[in-house]
Amino acid sequence: MKKIIVAGAGHGGLSAAITLSKAGYSVTVIEKQKRQELGHDWCDSVYLPAFDMTDIDTPEDSAFTKFQPVCYISPSKAVRFAAPPRTDNKVRNIDRKYFINYLITAAEEAGAEIIFETEIAGAFTQGNSVKGVRLKNRETVIADLVIDAAGMDSPVRRSLPKGCKIQNDFTEDDLFNVYRAFFAKTEEKFTDPPYVLGLCHCWRKGMDWAITEEGYVDILIGNFGVLTQQDIDEALADYRKDYPYMSDEVLRGGCVSKIPVRKALPRFVCNGYAAVGDSAAMVEPLSGSGICLSIKAGKILGDAVIAAGDAALDTKALWKYEYEYFKKLGNSQMNPEIIKNMLKTLTAQDLDYFMQSGVIGVKELSGKAGGYSFADIMKKAKPLLKKPGLIPPLLKMLTKMSSVKKIKALLPEEYNEEKIFRWMTEYNKV
Ligand SMILES: Cc1cc2nc3c(=O)[nH]c(=O)nc-3n(C[C@H](O)[C@H](O)[C@H](O)COP(=O)(O)OP(=O)(O)OC[C@H]3O[C@@H](n4cnc5c(N)ncnc54)[C@H](O)[C@@H]3O)c2cc1C
Repeated sequence: MKKIIVAGAGHGGLSAAITLSKAGYSVTVIEKQKRQELGHDWCDSVYLPAFDMTDIDTPEDSAFTKFQPVCYISPSKAVRFAAPPRTDNKVRNIDRKYFINYLITAAEEAGAEIIFETEIAGAFTQGNSVKGVRLKNRETVIADLVIDAAGMDSPVRRSLPKGCKIQNDFTEDDLFNVYRAFFAKTEEKFTDPPYVLGLCHCWRKGMDWAITEEGYVDILIGNFGVLTQQDIDEALADYRKDYPYMSDEVLRGGCVSKIPVRKALPRFVCNGYAAVGDSAAMVEPLSGSGICLSIKAGKILGDAVIAAGDAALDTKALWKYEYEYFKKLGNSQMNPEIIKNMLKTLTAQDLDYFMQSGVIGVKELSGKAGGYSFADIMKKAKPLLKKPGLIPPLLKMLTKMSSVKKIKALLPEEYNEEKIFRWMTEYNKV
């Protein structure tokens, strides 16, 4: 029986562990934290139908709370765009501590062994093949496949030899530094709309939100690049002006974390190794959401391993996972990546102008843009005549978007180094 190690109890790794344990594989999850310490200390949104694409049962209704519809606000606060409210109630919030425990219990029930408080130091490799993991206590654990679910700072991915052709690190440019806290309310008041997402709030290069919930205000303050204590203090002071019922008392969270905000790594499999979740940057580049992509990717990976049967879990067998991931999920992140890159080149003042003049609207901000007609382009181009300096970044965005279809077509279904190289070269230009 093939032995599988899941490095880190990340969401995608646990999803794969459930699929593979149910199919009779010997699966061991090695997690550095204590069980009770796992999971972010807050709630996040998930899209319910994602569970139907995995072997994870959808948690009971009582596990979820209502997700408020997003309202985008420009840096000057002069313009607001409300995203169309979802009527299907399929995006819901879930407590992250509850959810990770739910996945762990499901993996245990499926037959996986979960070892807590054991830190992995890196990959154990022979040549360009991964043969297991090295633990911090200097032990080595051998396996037929290492599933890397250790998040964006994974020591396994970071220690892979260059010959594996997998990017070891994310660049600072790919990261969103973020503070998140739930603040108690001094009185039970609500603001309409409850969920306001501020772009370049306080004229910083970033994105913040304030969500008024029952009993607390959920605050997120994030920067593309360094986030200082002064940034956090200024944003909080501004929110206290807009939400006088928000107290100083932090009920949950109150820490700074990093989120990868980029399209998936162009390559995340090699002999004996497959990355899943944040470790492979499987997130929506505009929002940093990665839970649903991770659990779906875990199922795709599990299925690819099962399909390999008795064959070695080498790059060729695991390419099936990478191909299916891009076909079903990863390719659709290229347009949001292009929009994000364009937004990052704009100053807060430019962005304000784009939002006020309608060049950027709900479609662009929610990553649903693309397929522009000539008439759409002309409509968007008109306000730019007043600001010709902004035409090049917009044209660059539209040109890149028009190349997405061609790039998708280059992704080879079967493992072929030459074709993969050609595809990667174009994909990396996005
Ligand atoms: C503020 C914030 C808000 C977010 N909001 C949303 C949202 O609304 N919706 C959404 O979908 N996503 C959201 N995300 C993103 C989401 O958290 C991630 O995309 C998702 O958790 C997938 O990450 P992962 O499971 O791959 O990795 P992680 O959650 O990082 O898990 C990695 C695991 O590996 C373990 N580990 C790490 N190193 C080692 C080691 N050396 N040895 C052993 N174990 C190790 C860690 O302890 C951890 O348990 C948010 C993230 C943040 C920070």
